[in-house]
Amino acid sequence: MKLQSTKIDAFKGKFRGEVVSPGDEAYDDARKIWNAMIDKHPALIVRCTTPSDVVLAVNFARDNGLLLAVRGGGHNIAGSAMCDDGIVIDLSQMKAASVDPAARRVTIEGGATLADLDASTQAHGLATPLGINSTTGVAGLTLGGGFGWLSRKHGMTIDNLESAEVVTAAGEVVRASNTEHPDLFWALRGGSGNFGVVTHFEFHLHPVGPDVLSGLIVYPISAAKSVLRQYREFLAQAPDALSVWAVLRQAPPLPFLPEEVHGTGMIALALLYAGDPKLGEPLIDPLRGFGTPLGEHVGVQPYIAWQQAFDPLLTPGARNYWKSHNFSTLQDGLFDAVIESIENLPSPQCEIFFGAIGGATTRPAPESAAYAHRDAQFVMNVHGRWQEQADDERCIGWAREFFKASAPFASGGVYVNFLTADEGDRVRSAYGPNYDRLAQVKRTYDPDNLFRTNQNIQPA
Ligand SMILES: Cc1cc2nc3c(=O)[nH]c(=O)nc-3n(C[C@H](O)[C@H](O)[C@H](O)COP(=O)(O)OP(=O)(O)OC[C@H]3O[C@@H](n4cnc5c(N)ncnc54)[C@H](O)[C@@H]3O)c2cc1C
Repeated sequence: MKLQSTKIDAFKGKFRGEVVSPGDEAYDDARKIWNAMIDKHPALIVRCTTPSDVVLAVNFARDNGLLLAVRGGGHNIAGSAMCDDGIVIDLSQMKAASVDPAARRVTIEGGATLADLDASTQAHGLATPLGINSTTGVAGLTLGGGFGWLSRKHGMTIDNLESAEVVTAAGEVVRASNTEHPDLFWALRGGSGNFGVVTHFEFHLHPVGPDVLSGLIVYPISAAKSVLRQYREFLAQAPDALSVWAVLRQAPPLPFLPEEVHGTGMIALALLYAGDPKLGEPLIDPLRGFGTPLGEHVGVQPYIAWQQAFDPLLTPGARNYWKSHNFSTLQDGLFDAVIESIENLPSPQCEIFFGAIGGATTRPAPESAAYAHRDAQFVMNVHGRWQEQADDERCIGWAREFFKASAPFASGGVYVNFLTADEGDRVRSAYGPNYDRLAQVKRTYDPDNLFRTNQNIQPA
């Protein structure tokens, strides 16, 4: 970026947050995001503290022709929170939340994490559906759709979004809802970061917990095919309140597993019952009879604790390469491919998971919001995850290989939030039949494609 220092100084004079540039002590930390594969060098990282800061930064980027990236929680696997040479609008200082328990509503700033949101709402025994790793950003997750343990019962995160405050490419602050800028509100619910910087989200809340029945039941990989078949049959008749995901990987050193199985192949069923734990107990019992479990850790625990249960396996700083498919059914041929892949894991941190969504996520019409995948019963993710750069090729190769082997069984759709940086050819599949309408809305709100460091929608 070639920008006169006088222009930067003038910007700094008005901006209330911190401005971090190359050479500053804070620079290397400020450009780090969750996926250690991403090593980008922005010219400026501006840490906004208010919506006015965001307006200044958007205007500054636009008026000076700078490449712009927006950082929420910094979790996006493709690294779209950072850019080379341009300016990063970093929202990580904007996390405040305000809950109206009587109206069952929360308003939260655009840089909050799932942990921030859960902490504020669970103080009132309320929650909205979010993802499974508490350090993820609310913003990126929501703008792509958002799903987690509560989604079968209460829908996608976007299905609970009531309004958003957005700084548009023109530097205007607008409120988008079903009645204000409804086209923008439609596009924000699945169109990812294409339409502006969201400074506030307003969500509808549901009574949840604060204690819930949740946990893990673990089987050996030798039983995986039988477990997966029974899992499929079980879920076909499970109530919406019960979520069960399947994770295949090497067993981590979990205290409830015998030491001799640590590091060996396993399939874990991870579950949450979003209702009275006493009603959930008999419902989950059949999950224990899919074979002889290696161990289980299931009980009544704070919802917040379960929301953070996977954090130790998903810490920032590892190298990650993911591939993802949606599935409307799970076929036996897919199970064979999964098991073969798990038998050839290239690193102890690699895994394949099936997130069972279905339920309430499938009920809205595909055109009711930008997120189009209302046919997805399962979202599969192959997590290539390792530590050393020397292992890049092997681990990426493994993820790609399984992705190819599982493709014949997939629906063709893909969750936009799980696309990696080299999957430009899948962006249309991620927006599906809603792409053309998204391109029209993009033309209205961002005709010059200022917001393009993302899974980009070209203005019509
Ligand atoms: C370990 C892990 C677990 C995950 N689990 C789940 C899960 O259970 N469910 C699920 O649905 N997803 C899950 N995801 C995917 C996650 O939703 C995406 O990675 C999402 O993009 C993360 O949002 P972020 O704000 O942290 O990311 P960032 O990298 O900060 O942002 C991603 C993009 O979103 C846009 N953006 C961010 N903030 C704003 C804003 N305030 N206004 C406008 N645009 C913005 C920008 O375009 C940015 O490039 C997971 C990801 C990881 C790494």
